[in-house]
Amino acid sequence: MAGEGVFTTTVVGSWPRPSWLIAELRRKNRGEITYEQFSEVADEAVLLAVKYQEDAGVEVLSDGEQRRDNFYSFVADKLEGIKLMTVAEVMDFVKDKQRYEELLRRLDVPAFAIKSPVAVATIRKKRPIALDELKFLKKHTKSRIKIPLPGPYMLTRASWIDPVSREAYWDREDLAKEYVKLLREEIKALAEAGADFIQLDEPTLTEVVYGGESSQTFMCAALFSKTDPTEELKFATELVNKVVQGISGVRIGVHVCRGNWSRAEGSLLSGDYKPLIPYFQEMKIDQLVLEFATQRAGELKVFEGVSGIKELGLGVVNPRTDEVEPVEQIIAKTKEAVKYFDPDKIYLNPDCGFGTFAESPVNKPKIAYEKLVSMVRAAEQLRKEYGG
Ligand SMILES: [Zn+2]
Repeated sequence: MAGEGVFTTTVVGSWPRPSWLIAELRRKNRGEITYEQFSEVADEAVLLAVKYQEDAGVEVLSDGEQRRDNFYSFVADKLEGIKLMTVAEVMDFVKDKQRYEELLRRLDVPAFAIKSPVAVATIRKKRPIALDELKFLKKHTKSRIKIPLPGPYMLTRASWIDPVSREAYWDREDLAKEYVKLLREEIKALAEAGADFIQLDEPTLTEVVYGGESSQTFMCAALFSKTDPTEELKFATELVNKVVQGISGVRIGVHVCRGNWSRAEGSLLSGDYKPLIPYFQEMKIDQLVLEFATQRAGELKVFEGVSGIKELGLGVVNPRTDEVEPVEQIIAKTKEAVKYFDPDKIYLNPDCGFGTFAESPVNKPKIAYEKLVSMVRAAEQLRKEYGG
């Protein structure tokens, strides 16, 4: 893979969308304009997101997910057979509504803002999942490009809902097969068209471990599938491996965080990556893109004596705060990571996106930009020390 260095800087994906884009997004969701009409407006927002990242000096950039209403529900624009349902609509299928509502309040989930893609019929591709995003970026930047994709476990978990999905897909495994096929096709097409980095987003893996009985609603997913966490993690690992098996010529990462829907840190999950490490070791991927700026993610020490993990995408800035992390703080965090990974195996990135959900971005472009600048400066200083 070309252009390797030490402490390569990148992003996780999303960028806060301009208000005029959100207005158009709403029009698209109401059916007043087509995806293509919306996408033309989004082109301008993508250029802005790219400009911010390039000005900050980020080396591997994204399109800020400007065409997506969030990192996974956007598949409803791309796939037939998927219907977007709000948390409130999904709630119609929940038995204990009162408990569920209390939970949503406690977790600070914007119940009417977050929509989940639910499989309601046989899924067929209407449009490429992300190839349009890549093609536009290729025309407008010479930088290396990361394309985030919703991971197969996350997609399956969010979109198989009993009984609405059952007619088309008898069980989750059945639906998972469909997503594996679609994601493989997409990744191959993206690699061929020159994507440098594909990132599979699997944020709900931490929920499997730390969500417990009481927060089965993390991102509206898995309302009905309270199964053994070990089985879930095995299932997720298997799906990731089926998606990436035999694909080469592009860096493939998996991103795992603890949710990014709220600035109320107390409402997001806590717990280190330790219980996930055996599964990470099994994943046939190039890089783990993890959050470490937030204290809720625990210590880097979990990697002590751990083999089989090729690269770490190290989260060094918290997307949900106004304080810009000082360069020295980022350097110190990175030096911790150097104990467990070689400098050329460490990427620097924010913990997550800055605008995961279109309607509830966790930061403003100005602050997001300053955080990227701080990260890039830290990388420059680190390179002086470690070479490359
Ligand atoms: Zn994340």
